[in-house]
Amino acid sequence: MEKVIEIQHLSKSFGTHEVLTDIDFSVNKGEVVSIIGSSGSGKSTLLRCVNLLEKPTGGQIIYNGENILDDHHDHNEYRIKLGMVFQQFNLFNNHDVLGNCVIGQTKVLKRTKAEAEKIALKYLNVVGMDQYIHAKPRHLSGGQKQRVAIARALSMEPDVMLFDEPTSALDPEMVGEVLTIMKELAESGLTMLIVTHEMEFAKDVSDRVVFMDQGIIAEEGTPEQIFNHPKEVRTREFLRRTL
Ligand code: ADP
Ligand code: MG
Repeated sequence: MEKVIEIQHLSKSFGTHEVLTDIDFSVNKGEVVSIIGSSGSGKSTLLRCVNLLEKPTGGQIIYNGENILDDHHDHNEYRIKLGMVFQQFNLFNNHDVLGNCVIGQTKVLKRTKAEAEKIALKYLNVVGMDQYIHAKPRHLSGGQKQRVAIARALSMEPDVMLFDEPTSALDPEMVGEVLTIMKELAESGLTMLIVTHEMEFAKDVSDRVVFMDQGIIAEEGTPEQIFNHPKEVRTREFLRRTL
């Protein structure tokens, strides 16, 4: 299987506090990997290290056969290959829906405005937001904002999409519309790395599940292994508290 990203011995400390310890895992092309675990276990920090929003303290991130943490490596080139969807949407409030999906394409990818709009419309259609292209984010519901944020990330046509609890900031009635889109994306063959508290979703959609506990990967396996036959006591305890 072709690996899109391979993490080796990754560690991250904030001052003397080690938050991630010796993390090893990879994401294969077309695979959906979910990261689950208690609050504070290091899930967001791991995603932020993967896309270099945080600088890892140690280890390697192998992408296209190269360690992108090597000093000479062009981090921008790597970063634009990763789409990121945040809990808090992080839309540009002064731009309308279409503008949000165009700006990265024209500024970073140097696409023409016409080309960028065409691509944006394609992905706004995928998330069911093509009827709202001239709306400002403040006029959208949380679920709609998150769908625009997903379309914005997809418009950059990344190699892998990273999601950090994309439904945690949503009112309960809006969680479903976002998970439905994510499930469709997963089934379309998109490579996805998803931090989520939605256990049913993780069970249903993931090829592989990574359980984190206190900064380490405590257990990793298929949804069947992790949810139905967890080996580790702490996985069982986490699932008992969560399910
Ligand atoms: P999770 O996403 O699993 O809830 P986080 O990755 O947000 O966990 O946090 C893991 C640990 O790292 C927590 O103890 C948190 O307080 C700490 N942490 C996260 N970001 C920072 C930061 N910028 N500075 C200091 N400590 C941080
Ligand atoms: Mg988090």
